[in-house]
Amino acid sequence: MTTDVAAPLHVSTTFRYPSDPAKLQPAADLDVDTAVTPTAAHTLSHPHIYSRISAPSTTRLEATLSTLLGGYAVTYASGLAAFHALLVHVNPRRLLIGQAYHGCHGVAALMKRLTGMEIMPLDTPPQPGDLVHLETPMNPTGEATSIAVYAARARAAGALLSVDSTFAPPPLQVPLELGAHWLMHSGTKYIGGHSDMLAGVLVTVDANAARALYLDRMYLGNVMGSFEGWLGLRSVRTLELRVLRQSTTATALARWIDAEWTGKAVDRVLHASLQPQEDWLTQQMPRGFGPVFAVLMKTEAAARSLPSNLKLWMHATSLGGVESLVEWRAMSDAGCDRRLLRFSVGVEAEEDLRADLDTAFKAVAAM
Ligand SMILES: *Cc1c(COP(=O)(O)O)cnc(C)c1O
Repeated sequence: MTTDVAAPLHVSTTFRYPSDPAKLQPAADLDVDTAVTPTAAHTLSHPHIYSRISAPSTTRLEATLSTLLGGYAVTYASGLAAFHALLVHVNPRRLLIGQAYHGCHGVAALMKRLTGMEIMPLDTPPQPGDLVHLETPMNPTGEATSIAVYAARARAAGALLSVDSTFAPPPLQVPLELGAHWLMHSGTKYIGGHSDMLAGVLVTVDANAARALYLDRMYLGNVMGSFEGWLGLRSVRTLELRVLRQSTTATALARWIDAEWTGKAVDRVLHASLQPQEDWLTQQMPRGFGPVFAVLMKTEAAARSLPSNLKLWMHATSLGGVESLVEWRAMSDAGCDRRLLRFSVGVEAEEDLRADLDTAFKAVAAM
């Protein structure tokens, strides 16, 4: 019995069998289905055997995420591995997908190559068995779409709705309560929160579906590393603190840039806080909007130059970490407007972030 307050780090890939010969259970006698069935406590009902099946830190993280996300959470090596696992499990004849993370479109194209799955625009009327995949808030703008509307449309047609909620981690948005069948996160972003781990999460309220995901994962081998499982446990302890702070600061900064710079160096600021504040939006995101927003500069040259004028904000891709990042999005997304800058707000003081931005916008406006 140890008395650690922080979670211990387990890196073993293999686990000793019981020392009592009577307790040894040969594989032929083992009901694999039962072994991987998530219990009511969201933990596996079987001892760990081999880390491609389950491992202590990952299982503990999944238990925590299950509580936080409101269903059975299954983790993966990355967000895209989670999306791939979802498509493998559902194996839809048609995927309805709109503006979404470019990598998700890449996974969809790969599945199309393998299975002939058709890729249709998001607003195509759904048919039975379709998978409708909604990303909200959307990359790279941080603008939101109604989950309830797409959930009702999918359910009425006998289709399934999956929501990529990476840009609105808990406690900002609860897609499974708004009618989504599947919830997906790139855990690399806010769940990890420190720019030091790749992870993906799929969540369902259906225990049978969760068991099927565990079985698929055992053979796809797309498990998160044990060290990442431990990093994830470190991260989720501060998830709410980080995310609420990042959300408040992002909304304040998006509104400030909009008020101060729109019409000058800036063409438009894009963020859920600047959308019409209709009932569905405030009901969907009652605790605040996502910590990512985008700025459409007047010119490509201004967008290209602004990051070099910032000191506190680092010019890098990705989002969700405690450090504020800016990205001239053309660097990593070939399809993006070349005047667009994406901002991921960290946990630094709002006034420091604003002062840095003020200096940079002034420099670019003087170009
Ligand atoms: C980053 C991201 C992904 C992909 O996640 P990885 O962990 O990089 O594989 C998927 N969706 C959104 C919205 C993302 O931001």
